[in-house]
Amino acid sequence: MTGAASGIGRAVALLAADRGAASIGLVDRDPRGLAEVADAVGRRATRAVPVVADLSTAEGPAEAVAAVLEATGGLDTLVSNAGASGRGTMLDLTVDDWRLVFDLNVRATWLLAAAAYAALVDAQGSVVVTTSVSAHHPTPRTGAYSVSKAAASMLVRQLALEWGPAGVRVNAVAPGPVATPMTWSSFGDPEDPAARERRARRTAATPLRRLGEPEDVAEVVLFLAGPGAVHLTGVEVPVDGGLGTTLMPGS
Ligand code: NAD
Repeated sequence: MTGAASGIGRAVALLAADRGAASIGLVDRDPRGLAEVADAVGRRATRAVPVVADLSTAEGPAEAVAAVLEATGGLDTLVSNAGASGRGTMLDLTVDDWRLVFDLNVRATWLLAAAAYAALVDAQGSVVVTTSVSAHHPTPRTGAYSVSKAAASMLVRQLALEWGPAGVRVNAVAPGPVATPMTWSSFGDPEDPAARERRARRTAATPLRRLGEPEDVAEVVLFLAGPGAVHLTGVEVPVDGGLGTTLMPGS
């Protein structure tokens, strides 16, 4: 489970523990957040294996998987969820911004999955990737983010095609706006009038008339990883209150 220290990843870890997971590898670059989540997971009688790693590096993903496997001896589910948001327009974007967003949102998922492949074959397990509604709808001022999420979305289908014959499923969850630290400055901060206004516009544009909660996404991640989804692969499930059915007004 990557990006486990906060937001959606934290919610997935806690829900998996609530549902009786025997052990969970918790991977993040934030040691403090990780310690808090590991503590909460441990209180639910699940073994937490916290691993501090920077997944945007070339070595970080394989090292993180190796650390989890060393502690647990196996892996039946890989949730590749850590992501970086972009900023600005395509003209503001620098090569360094582009590289960071792609290294984390695309390359890390590929490298994590490749490092976990043998264990996933042994377990006849699955991969779940957090993409975004932005993979399919360009949104203003998000820099390379939507482009990287579109690439991650195709990576899921490519892996599903290649790994299906070995019994490994690969699926994605595509959240719409969810109030987490990642989106705090865009629409989370209730003290900021511009953020409040953006939040109200997005809520009004969402057919279900509310933004997502991390737990909404966590439920679908666990479904995709679980026994109800054994004949699903290469699927990307939007968890966006219907926002993707619109042309994303209010972004
Ligand atoms: P978040 O900021 O709450 O959590 C992201 C976590 O990833 C943090 O704990 C952070 O420390 C970790 N992380 C960031 N860079 C890392 C790195 N280089 N190495 C290791 N860990 C790193 O954000 P979130 O909203 O929970 O986002 C989780 C995923 O959901 C991301 O892939 C994001 O793109 C996607 N998503 C979020 C939203 C939203 O509105 N919040 C919408 C669509 C998709």
